[in-house]
Amino acid sequence: MVLIDGKRVSTEIRGRLEKETAELKTKIGRTPGLATVLVGEDPASAVYVRNKNKICHEIGFQSFGQNLSAETTEEELLDIIKKLNSNDEVNGILVQLPLPDHIDSEKILLSIDPEKDVDGFHPINVGKLAIGNALLTPCTPTGIIALLDYYKIEIPGKHAVVLGRSNIVGKPVAHLLLQRHATVTICHSKTKNLQQVTRQADILIAAVGRPHFVNSDMVKEGTVVIDVGINRVDGKLTGDVDFDQVAEKAGLITPVPGGVGPMTIALLMENTLKAFKATQ
Ligand code: NDP
Repeated sequence: MVLIDGKRVSTEIRGRLEKETAELKTKIGRTPGLATVLVGEDPASAVYVRNKNKICHEIGFQSFGQNLSAETTEEELLDIIKKLNSNDEVNGILVQLPLPDHIDSEKILLSIDPEKDVDGFHPINVGKLAIGNALLTPCTPTGIIALLDYYKIEIPGKHAVVLGRSNIVGKPVAHLLLQRHATVTICHSKTKNLQQVTRQADILIAAVGRPHFVNSDMVKEGTVVIDVGINRVDGKLTGDVDFDQVAEKAGLITPVPGGVGPMTIALLMENTLKAFKATQ
């Protein structure tokens, strides 16, 4: 069994971005800019946003942090996004979810310029992903493909089974795998005979949000197992895969933490650089 080291791969990606950013600064005197928008004081969201801004600085991007009070109105937030949309120094806009209940997240998402939508969640980018020509694709799914590529895992013709159909992980990763010529099956809570389906997987992506959901009876020998899950059990981070059991059968497997998690933020930075380059 080979352990897929997301920490190492994400560090390499960030190193490459740092180098490219320094080159851009020398060549054109400009660097990419990412604006993070946080509404309210949710501690987990505050940590995520702080981390994103910190990595921006490490890479050499400009970061524009907007930390807004929980009382910010929808109109005020829309106005802030409008200003970020027209600010040439801002190439990527990330609105940290969840937003307070009085703000319609869908409306906010739609207000972001699709060319600055570094999360890849705007319907325009979702549609482009579906037809196979998106520049900005969602970070976690794109990070999963980057891991498969780094470990030279063949995708064309392989049967990829995706557990979960969320707009954030399941559906976009299925599209990306299809684009890479995998035969893709998407499973969800109504899927019948789940074990029969998952046992056919050459590549199994678990994005269910249930700790230890995937056990060794659900995988065949040699499968590549990608665990997207982040669940807290007794204060400890746990994936959707029962790692100890499944690692005995898997060909390659991601740990939690240290697998998919660190890739998400690296790909957010990569998307910001792509959005910047598209404006040059
Ligand atoms: P959602 O809750 O939005 O989606 C979960 C999916 O799993 C749904 O499609 C649901 O089916 C399916 N599901 C639930 N129970 C079962 C079951 N018994 N059998 C089959 N399918 C089932 O979660 P997300 O996609 O947002 O996230 C999934 C996990 O990934 C979470 O643990 C989350 O924390 C983590 N995550 C990690 C990220 C990272 O950076 N590493 C980024 C984003 C998420 P149905 O649609 O029918 O309800």
